[in-house]
Amino acid sequence: MRTVITGGAGFIGSHLVEHLLEQGDEVVVLDDMSTGAPRNLMGSLDDPRLTIEHGSVLDREKVLATVRGADRVFHLAAAVGVKLIVEQPLSSLRTNIHGTENVLDACVATGASLLLVSTSEIYGKNASDKLTEESDRILGSPLKSRWTYAAAKGIDEAFAHAYWTEYGLDVTIVRPFNTVGPRQTGRYGMVVPNLVGQALRGEPLTVYGDGEQTRCFSYVGDVVPAMVRLIAEPRATGQAFNLGGAEEVSINSLAQRIIDVTGSTSHVTHLSYGEAYAAGFEDMRRRVPDYTKAAELVGFDPATRLDDIILRVAGEMHSRERREREPQFVRRQVILDGRSA
Ligand code: UDP
Repeated sequence: MRTVITGGAGFIGSHLVEHLLEQGDEVVVLDDMSTGAPRNLMGSLDDPRLTIEHGSVLDREKVLATVRGADRVFHLAAAVGVKLIVEQPLSSLRTNIHGTENVLDACVATGASLLLVSTSEIYGKNASDKLTEESDRILGSPLKSRWTYAAAKGIDEAFAHAYWTEYGLDVTIVRPFNTVGPRQTGRYGMVVPNLVGQALRGEPLTVYGDGEQTRCFSYVGDVVPAMVRLIAEPRATGQAFNLGGAEEVSINSLAQRIIDVTGSTSHVTHLSYGEAYAAGFEDMRRRVPDYTKAAELVGFDPATRLDDIILRVAGEMHSRERREREPQFVRRQVILDGRSA
């Protein structure tokens, strides 16, 4: 099986690369290294079945050339992270809409099947008990940059569905809910790596708003195998699937659990959304998935518990920070950066 992963040097993408190499695939990563980094693939770089193509999904020719000859494509390349979207709405709109169109066209032209990675963000402010794939979307104004991400991903899904209807493209959509795990960076705003990093450094943990908003964190190691089973499942084609965690937790209690699990001496501090992002920023109070559909069709089971997730994130962050100070890591990084330039 020859598999292309756009965004394969990112957080979820790099875990997917490892999983597919273990399964015996030949893997081609297409990544512009904007939010991804070659170091995420450090453990796989010496595998001869891995090829890394440096390029953007906005480069139509490059996308087509990369997808040609592939059996399947996982499309993860996107501008992600609330902070990044708020700061760079234009480039995130372009990448998330035009980039996806290029990937869809390349799959139609070559006959590759496609897994489109969307997001739970598309449900917006719908705080209902459990969001099913049919739940309504409640979005704020498109002039508020936070909602441009949900708007763009909604367009992506509509495009994918139309390509399935009109061209018969073999495409399946997944909507991950707050997927977390080792190698996720806090640089673009994600709460778990941000707070774990603060706890390890003994800094105050920055909780935004009143901290009573809730999320259901899912572990990347549970989500990735489900994605692989979904792309291979003919009954999934043309449909969307929620992939989310089982436990609803407030950000206040997440912060406390991070302090407890890491044994940190840090305390919690609250910042207003205006201070954290921008004036008028809107957050969702609650986001709870119903993932029955993926559980029933491909056995999706978000079994990894939050305390274990925190431990794994903290363990990897701790050893990465130590490793990155070592001279041989710095040398290897220079070589990698040269290779991906
Ligand atoms: N958040 C926080 N502190 C941080 C980063 C995020 O309290 O350092 C909050 C954020 O406002 C949101 C929740 O944690 O309510 C989850 O944020 P994240 O950006 O990880 O995901 P999303 O907002 O997409 O659910």
